Amino acid sequence: EPAILPVERHGIRREQLSPAARKVCAVLQEKGFKAFVVGGAVRDLLIGQPPKDYDVATSATPEEVRAAFRRSRIIGRRFKIVHVMSGPETIEVSTFRASQDAESTDTDEHGRVLRDNVFGNQQEDATRRDFTVNALYYDPGTETIVDYHHGVADIQQKTLRVIGDPRTRYREDPVRMLRAVRLAAKLGLAIDPAARQPIREMGPLLENVPAARLFDEMLKLLFSGHSMKCLQQLRGEGLHHGLLPLLDVILEQPMGERFVTLALENTDERVREDKSVSPGFLFSTLLWHEVLKTWDKKKAGGDHSQPALFEAMDEVLDAQAGKLAITRRIAGDIKDIWAMQPRFDKRTGKAAYRVIEQPRYRAGWDFLRLRAQAGEIPMEIVDWWDDFAHAGHDEREALLRQAP
Ligand code: ATP
Ligand code: MG
Repeated sequence: EPAILPVERHGIRREQLSPAARKVCAVLQEKGFKAFVVGGAVRDLLIGQPPKDYDVATSATPEEVRAAFRRSRIIGRRFKIVHVMSGPETIEVSTFRASQDAESTDTDEHGRVLRDNVFGNQQEDATRRDFTVNALYYDPGTETIVDYHHGVADIQQKTLRVIGDPRTRYREDPVRMLRAVRLAAKLGLAIDPAARQPIREMGPLLENVPAARLFDEMLKLLFSGHSMKCLQQLRGEGLHHGLLPLLDVILEQPMGERFVTLALENTDERVREDKSVSPGFLFSTLLWHEVLKTWDKKKAGGDHSQPALFEAMDEVLDAQAGKLAITRRIAGDIKDIWAMQPRFDKRTGKAAYRVIEQPRYRAGWDFLRLRAQAGEIPMEIVDWWDDFAHAGHDEREALLRQAP
């Protein structure tokens, strides 16, 4: 009963797929298993965006997949998937899985599904997926798409639609609300009204999701290359509360809004140019004005500047920690960047040399530049440090003499 759509209906030629994705499907099919490229890659190709990576869904068990490829390994405890390495690529291969309705499985008291690890057939695998556009199975052998939920039509109509009853699906897994916002923003799709409407009311269910999973999803969102659009839409749907508890506060301050906007635009640009972006840097920008506010309060209360800054940093990070699970390493990066900022004010002898010798100097300087772009400090300071960092010894001495 699924529609089998020939290439004339969707236009995806097998040559558009990565060699590894084609090969993995071919090898499994040769052994008599079903194997399809599924999920984000098919969706992105239909929309005309280059896929980020490839997922393959198959009737073979993880052990059978493992046995079919020399360079492969089984990962995951709760639900096993297989990573197949081919050339420079890694393909994620998962066995068809059954949908789990909340009545017959383990859930928490809010209906969130805690166990999701039962093999199933292809139709069940399609139905347990989140959105119709994510449940398309492309067979590179025949260049057909198996479409159980009218996903191709939805893409053509630029609609993001939940498979099944949206309320039920959000209750099973509240992260699907965040995925809806992210995918709609990234792909230029409108969230179907039936899927959009319950979000406002069900948003608080995100509070029950483990912090580490929320953090992963926030990273995906912030590094999607469309972070501005995603955050605006999150705000529009009332979902930003409890995710970045301070984001709304930050966005309400005129100085803060300019700064955050610049930081996000800068990140989006880097992602789209395939340049590296660090979570620490981005989080340090998102939370900076909260640090400034807290720091000012402490200084006004008579604390010394330097210890007050360190206390403010800890307070702001602690306030985020419960919900965002910022890892220790990332928290360390964030603090390094913040702690460097007052040191940029001291353009004298030894202190200046120590600043440019910092391992995180470059990130600190990028941050300083953002502050200048946001109108927080004069651009002259930023240029001075860049000159100083790149100068030879004599030039540096001259720069130190010129510094105010
Ligand atoms: P991208 O990788 O571009 O962020 P994606 O759709 O590929 O998007 P993944 O997280 O890689 O996202 O998931 C792969 C596929 O697994 C999805 O296309 C979807 O079919 C399914 N999936 C992922 N997360 C969920 C979820 N929370 N509920 C149901 N199905 C999901
Ligand atoms: Mg993916």
